[in-house]
Amino acid sequence: MLFDIRTLLVAVALANLFCAAARFLLWRMHPAIPGLGRWALAGGAGALALILILFYGIKHWPALLSLAEVSVVIGLVVVWDGFRRFIGRSSLSPFILGVLAVFVLAWIATVQLQHSLQIRALINAVIIAILSVLIARELLTAPKPIPIATRATGWVYAINAAVFLVRAVVVDPAAPPLSALNLDGFTAFMLLWWLCTTIAITLGMVLMTAKRLQTDLDSQANHDPLTGALNRRAFSLIADNAVNQSRRYDKPLSILMMDLDNFKRINDHLGHQAGDVMLCRFVAIVDRVLRDQDIFCRFGGEEFVALLPNGSDETALVAADRLRTVVATELAPMETSDDTSPLAVTVSIGIAELGQDETIESLLSRADAALYQAKNKGRNRCELAESMQKKRHNP
Ligand code: GH3
Ligand code: MG
Ligand code: MG
Repeated sequence: MLFDIRTLLVAVALANLFCAAARFLLWRMHPAIPGLGRWALAGGAGALALILILFYGIKHWPALLSLAEVSVVIGLVVVWDGFRRFIGRSSLSPFILGVLAVFVLAWIATVQLQHSLQIRALINAVIIAILSVLIARELLTAPKPIPIATRATGWVYAINAAVFLVRAVVVDPAAPPLSALNLDGFTAFMLLWWLCTTIAITLGMVLMTAKRLQTDLDSQANHDPLTGALNRRAFSLIADNAVNQSRRYDKPLSILMMDLDNFKRINDHLGHQAGDVMLCRFVAIVDRVLRDQDIFCRFGGEEFVALLPNGSDETALVAADRLRTVVATELAPMETSDDTSPLAVTVSIGIAELGQDETIESLLSRADAALYQAKNKGRNRCELAESMQKKRHNP
């Protein structure tokens, strides 16, 4: 198959322009997501490179080609930085940028000194391959779980690196220079490849952004904005699942219903903001004290619930009492200006274990009744709920 190189160049340039415009729109739509501005800038650099190559086809000024190559390299570095920021890493260090700048300058000098299109193409291919490997590595080692769109984009860069390495090895010194603009099968292939990667990578960026938005939305829907703990909505979903698991594997499941004591006084004496800080500190303590598999959520106001899979009410009582002690110790009493009694932040906890055929609603209300008892008996206590007929479970 014969491709007309000039037609291909126009097609690739147009595709690059549209992709750059798409990335720009993506950035304008979601300016708060880090990295998107870099992606748009890199898209612009890619489009500029192609426009310069198109002009080189008309004017044959070698400087146009050099500028195009520099533009491609800058685009790759900028997009690399954009991906780093997107996945939550820091921007490229000035040291790396310095090394790259020296590298690129040395490359331009080499190219300008000996005017060989073949050597130019070879060095160009090696630089693009190296940068593509670095970008692929960045994406394929992103913090887990790595979304499929991020992995796919990483693989596009990995394959791009392989293609450019092959390009570097098979540069044919006898091939007609690019100015001949036809019949060079490899040039046609590389232009088609450029077309495909530009579209694939831009699509990858759109999918990565969509996934990020979805994840953020899910997180907002399931977490309390003040403390970051799971909210009641998430709890309902997870609790149903935990009850089912407990039944299927015949394992115990216990619940802790917690309420901070005299919390209204904290707000009244220290202000609502200090109350908010206390709530966050309480959540941080619970995070530390409970096990990873325990499910903890803010039920509303200063009430919290924890589900302890694989925990009988006896073990839950031990965990609850440890938590109560740590809270009483760490959320230390504070003197108030107008009151003689110091303000202590303590927690009362009601504990219940899931009974045979019991629903989650009934389990919650038994734990709530136990909590009520703990309050009545003077607060800063843990109380076990009246027992139901317990499930028999595996030893
Ligand atoms: P008890 O020991 O009986 O639980 O007494 P309490 O004062 O903790 O209970 P009460 O239900 O009377 O008051 C709960 C207080 O919790 C009142 C409310 O202003 C406060 N509160 C609820 N949500 C928040 C919040 O998000 N931030 C702050 N700062 N306070 C909150
Ligand atoms: Mg309270
Ligand atoms: Mg309350």
